[in-house]
Amino acid sequence: MNRVSTPPNARLPRRPTLPVRIGPVTVGGQSPVVVQSMTNTDTADVTATVRQVADLAQAGSELVRITVNTESAARAVAPIRAQLDAAGCTVPLIGDFHFNGHRLLTDYPECAQALAKYRINPGNVGSGEKRDSQFATMIEIACRYDRPVRIGVNWGSLDQDLIVRMMDANARSPAPRPVAAVMHEAMVESAVASAARAVELGLPKDHIVLSCKMSGVQDLITVYRMLAARTDQALHLGLTEAGMGSKGIVASTAALAILLQEGIGDTIRVSLTPAPGEARTREVQVAQEVLQTMGMRSFAPMVTACPGCGRTTSDTFQHLAQDIQTYLREQMPAWRTRYPGVETMQVAVMGCVVNGPGESKHANIGISLPGSGEHPAAPVYVDGEKVATLKGDDLVGQFKRMVDDYIERHYG
Ligand code: SF4
Repeated sequence: MNRVSTPPNARLPRRPTLPVRIGPVTVGGQSPVVVQSMTNTDTADVTATVRQVADLAQAGSELVRITVNTESAARAVAPIRAQLDAAGCTVPLIGDFHFNGHRLLTDYPECAQALAKYRINPGNVGSGEKRDSQFATMIEIACRYDRPVRIGVNWGSLDQDLIVRMMDANARSPAPRPVAAVMHEAMVESAVASAARAVELGLPKDHIVLSCKMSGVQDLITVYRMLAARTDQALHLGLTEAGMGSKGIVASTAALAILLQEGIGDTIRVSLTPAPGEARTREVQVAQEVLQTMGMRSFAPMVTACPGCGRTTSDTFQHLAQDIQTYLREQMPAWRTRYPGVETMQVAVMGCVVNGPGESKHANIGISLPGSGEHPAAPVYVDGEKVATLKGDDLVGQFKRMVDDYIERHYG
């Protein structure tokens, strides 16, 4: 049962893309895959939005998107940026625009200035003749303020003119393809054609990120493979409307992992629906864990824990695994600067001595709790060597102190 792990920070081959600068963050090129998230506060509520952006940034979100849907939201953007700057939070803000983005960006130049990137949905920038002029207005503003854009196609709001045109052409062809295949092609065509139009309007190619979000895992994989074959623009990856709880996490992970393994994707978001009262930062944690468990980046020390079985009849082992995992993650904001490299540390918490010592030897520090009927002692291994055997009621406290000591000695 011993783990054969991917070395931390192993560099999987990445598809070459044009690097895009978003404030101090680079997306694409050979940069590490960037984690981003989105607020769910009313952007017009400056206090609540500042607090949530700061929470997301503190959790490790490297870009944060906010919706800019009304005049009051557009008016709030510059104060939000100013308050974040005053608090020392430099995370770039991305404005999410639909329907009226051309007007809001025109009427509120301080909003256009405060945002580091604009997200444009080509399916929601108007229809007919208006569509072209409204899209052009947004691109011209991006050029004026030297801001990158994400052309973000979403299958729930795919350009209706385009899909009707492509469906009609398919129906007239001698060998019509399945509707799903035409839909996939329309998604890709909308993104690629909009990017080409933006370049025609004067936006540099290295100011464009593309996305084609779908809510089905297989659809997303198919579309991104097609998109990656047609463009060298940086790609934003995410399963839209992934859902709640384990379903949302599993679906997002299944889709993202396959594409990332193929080198596709320069920035990711995990679009979880939070349970009532659940922290918005959960989506950041999941995105980080996808990248870290794949060996692509390290964000926080990882705990390897066995699932437990009939040999673990008390819940001490579960409490210890949970306490240590929570403790390590909660300390990371402070440890990130104080203990460089601590994010690559591996901790093992095992339920008995069957596999515990073996697994512990592979970790930086590991403990094996006594299983049912075993001698009530917990051997601890540090860098492959047995250094202590813990006993007594305070195993959690003793082991935490050993972890702290290890971190201080190795990363301090
Ligand atoms: S308690 Fe022991 S045997 Fe059971 S899963 Fe954990 S390590 Fe394996």
